[in-house]
Amino acid sequence: MTIAANLGFPRIGHRRALKAALEGFWAGHLTEADLLAEAARLRARHWRLQQGLGIGHVPSNDFSLYDHVLDTACMLGAVPPGYGWPGQGPVSLSTYFALARGARGTEAEQAAGIAAEAPALEMTKWFDTNYHYLVPVLRAGQTFTLTQNRPLAAFREAFALGMRTRPVLLGPVSFLLLAKTEDGSDPLALLPGLLPVYAGILRELAAAGASWVQMDEPCLATTLNGAAQAALRDAYAALAAAAPRLCLLLTGYFGGLGGNLETALALPVAGLHLDLVRDPGQLDTVLAGARPEQWLSLGVIDGRNVWRADLRRTLGELRRAAALRPDGARRLMVAPSCSLLHVPLDLAQEDALDPALRSWLAFAVQKLGEVRALTLALEEGEEAPGVRQLFAEADAALASRRASPKVHDPAVAARLAAVTPAMALRKSPFAARRIHQKARLKLPPFPTTTIGSFPQTEAVRRARADRAAGRLPAAEYDAFLQSETAAAIRWQEEAGLDVLVHGEFERNDMVKYFGEQLAGFAFTKHGWVQSYGSRCVAPPILWGDVARPAPMTVGWWRYAQSLTSRPVKGMLTGPVTLLQWSFVRDDLPRETVCRQLALAVRDEVAELEAAGCAVVQIDEPALREGLPLRPAEWPGYLAWAVECFRIASAGVWDDTQIHTHMCYAEFNDIIAAIAALDADVISVETARSRMGLLDAFAGFAYPNEIGPGVWDIHSPRVPDVDGMARLLRLARGRVEAAQLWVNPDCGCKTRRWEEVRPAVGNMVAAARQLRAEL
Ligand code: GLN
Ligand code: ZN
Repeated sequence: MTIAANLGFPRIGHRRALKAALEGFWAGHLTEADLLAEAARLRARHWRLQQGLGIGHVPSNDFSLYDHVLDTACMLGAVPPGYGWPGQGPVSLSTYFALARGARGTEAEQAAGIAAEAPALEMTKWFDTNYHYLVPVLRAGQTFTLTQNRPLAAFREAFALGMRTRPVLLGPVSFLLLAKTEDGSDPLALLPGLLPVYAGILRELAAAGASWVQMDEPCLATTLNGAAQAALRDAYAALAAAAPRLCLLLTGYFGGLGGNLETALALPVAGLHLDLVRDPGQLDTVLAGARPEQWLSLGVIDGRNVWRADLRRTLGELRRAAALRPDGARRLMVAPSCSLLHVPLDLAQEDALDPALRSWLAFAVQKLGEVRALTLALEEGEEAPGVRQLFAEADAALASRRASPKVHDPAVAARLAAVTPAMALRKSPFAARRIHQKARLKLPPFPTTTIGSFPQTEAVRRARADRAAGRLPAAEYDAFLQSETAAAIRWQEEAGLDVLVHGEFERNDMVKYFGEQLAGFAFTKHGWVQSYGSRCVAPPILWGDVARPAPMTVGWWRYAQSLTSRPVKGMLTGPVTLLQWSFVRDDLPRETVCRQLALAVRDEVAELEAAGCAVVQIDEPALREGLPLRPAEWPGYLAWAVECFRIASAGVWDDTQIHTHMCYAEFNDIIAAIAALDADVISVETARSRMGLLDAFAGFAYPNEIGPGVWDIHSPRVPDVDGMARLLRLARGRVEAAQLWVNPDCGCKTRRWEEVRPAVGNMVAAARQLRAEL
């Protein structure tokens, strides 16, 4: 029998119910019991929903109040001291949220023994998704203990509702590889101490009646060294022996098994899940190498994107796989490629989308419908009742998408075909451009600037909301934005900044603002995806050829520049970031979509330049995020990402200065690509690392100008003059003084004016100190 399976369901719930409950609890409006009851209600609702959709293997323990990696750490007793955990027994909610968000200094925390200044654990990206997990902190000799069998509790909870679910565990090897050690020791050395705890969890699950357990080992999609592969072998030998009647499904996703394929095939697990969306090519090797009695879970429905699947083509693949298995379609599962955590919940709520576009989409609920349809079709044929209709709908949607003149704009294709290598080259090398730019801009040494945005105050947000709701007429809204912009320009002049910005008051979000003005983008009403904790994002859907019908930023730039004789930067979001923070169409290579975006940005740059703009900043904070999980694939990505930035930026004259900005990022391993962007000036986040991140630039002898951030804008602390001057001296010790700009780490939109005014004032004073030392 083929099983329709799911790997994980969005936790946030209909209309972000979990967000409301969490924030209500944090604000003190809900009690702990209220929060837990709401969480249980969401779990029950999601289990029933999946069961109702015909899913045979419904996951449990995929839910989390904040993050499943943190859940795992707490379950295993990997809680650092200072968070009020007594060293045994369950981890309290106060401890859990202090680890997640940092202590808030509340009475409840004090009562729980949580240090007032206990910081949040570090947060980082979950593989190549936009979900962020909390990084467990371990140390050599660390012991583990089962504080609470969470998977068992979830299994029982569902069992009481009449469902035998498939508990999901983050596997021990991925858990260790995702953690960091405070002493720099090898986390994998802790495996022997960890396995008995996992074994205990599995034994209890087996005793409670679980038949399958999903062991997530997403590290399988990365390049693993021999030690990590050996750890997998040790771990699964031990776990398979611990609960011999339990079927373990080893789950890798976000990529193919690659170099880990042989290792994975040799593990004594009852089933193996494959991400066949990211790597369809691995199927044949796995079919040839899997043991006859082993189950294969075929991840054919894209868990990372929002498009409806080509059911007929996918069914063909499934049939081909079945034909090559010793017992046909038996011992096959049909599944999404990965957990559905990364797609929005339900398309049914999107009543404002263009109906054609809507018919091409599938969110989590619709994707499970596809899983079910494929499973039934594999068993009973695509003409079976209940299947026929779904296949017919999929065919019609696909045909309409392929033929849609909105998706395919011949003018865009023609322009793309006409791109020449020269379009990615500035007219002169940096050394020559620099002379022209100096002559035009006449800036002092250590020129000062900011990254673009100024505080999005309550008034700014209210005006935007009022405008969106139709309560504020367009003319009044524009007048309000003009007065904010004018005030910002006036203040920057007074503060003594050299290169000004207009403040980005008109922008809601650095992708949305552009997407709303470009052809090819659509926005959902409820397409929320969890980013971390209660925080969600609703990425735009990049569904058609990208074109720029009209200038997007020139009006605001022109207005700001009309108020001052100092240069005002034109502020744009770069093509790679526009791509990276959207759900991107899957009928073109990402590279091609990115080139379309690059051409649109290029047109905007040209128009800014023609209007008289002397400095254009093209932000690319997401450039690093786009790196593939396997380093072997980096050069391919970096080549087109860099080229796209250059297409966007290189059309200008020598005396137009191109800036770019990137947020916190490690630059060491991509510094050649950063240099290849050939931006005249790059600003980066370096305040927290005390200029450590500049080493990459220094070691590479980076030739162009650099603005290493001297103010950590993520902290409410106002930096003083001396501190910033010290940072600048550190920077001066690493790169040439003549290369340096003085700026904050990032935009100031999340800060208050009461912080921005003194901080920028101090920053300008620090720059003056450095000038005096020349
Ligand atoms: N120009 C943007 C701003 O200042 C850059 C934001 C970012 O780097 N994420 O807000
Ligand atoms: Zn930034």
